[in-house]
Amino acid sequence: MCDAQDWFTESYPDNGSALSLKIRAKLHEEQTPFQRIEIYDTESFGKLMVIDGCTMVSDRDNFLYHEMMTHPVLYTHPAPKTVWIIGGGDCGSLREVLKHSEVEKAVQIDIDERVTRLAERYFPELCEANGDPRAELLFIDGIQWVKDAPDGCVDVIIVDSTDPVGPAEGLFNEAFFRQCHRCLRTDGILVQQSESPLFHLPLIASMHRIMRQAGFAQTRTLFFPQFIYPSGWWSATMAGKGDLNRFRADAAEAKLFPTRYYNADIHRAAFAVPEFFGDALRELV
Ligand code: SAM
Repeated sequence: MCDAQDWFTESYPDNGSALSLKIRAKLHEEQTPFQRIEIYDTESFGKLMVIDGCTMVSDRDNFLYHEMMTHPVLYTHPAPKTVWIIGGGDCGSLREVLKHSEVEKAVQIDIDERVTRLAERYFPELCEANGDPRAELLFIDGIQWVKDAPDGCVDVIIVDSTDPVGPAEGLFNEAFFRQCHRCLRTDGILVQQSESPLFHLPLIASMHRIMRQAGFAQTRTLFFPQFIYPSGWWSATMAGKGDLNRFRADAAEAKLFPTRYYNADIHRAAFAVPEFFGDALRELV
């Protein structure tokens, strides 16, 4: 038995469950104008960032999320040159995007500069591509950024946000998806973290529905494990102006950069649709 004080616990009351990580120390805590950020040193997951009580990033398992938020969409788009990351302040998605040599410009738009400053201090490896001349880091509201942007100016939009409450709430509605659709070029693709398939199925179904209502021709969800997120199983949902079944498998198989989870077989497998999920989409969308 361990003293409860040695543990960080995030509970999911709606699902009668919780995640606990044994901690060595709390390294930092602050309230920014947008959210409360905590950093822990854990016993077996390395450093851990928590925002408003929800786990965001751990040293040990962030590669799963960051690789699956980026490489599947970049190997689905026929020629991704310009990429926006809305949220993503820990810079892990930016680092993965910049591994693609065909990307000419990647803009990360996070509302809260403190997330990035703390990531630079506590997760320096996630920030190692921040100095890449193709990278631009902006600290403004992603909803406003998309509203103000011109038509047809971006190839891929990655929404790497917190949960759909607080500042991220407006990143999950039809008005936002309409603006993204307007900003994307002809073959443009939006991909958004879409929570747990086990715990948040109605949310994922509603994302499919409103992405299509917003004008996207196709939507598809991909799945991956993520120990520190509710249920340990996570998803991202893509919305395409064109065909989303255009995996550039040859390019993925010949990739010259290292990944720890993503490869061409993982790409194909991640899009396999579980029975309960397909049934729910047919019923709810
Ligand atoms: N991987 C994480 C997850 O799924 O839990 C997300 C990590 S990332 C740190 C989430 C970021 O979204 C935070 O840095 C937060 O500041 C940012 N964010 C939330 N709402 C936003 C908005 N409206 N515009 C831009 N960034 C936003």
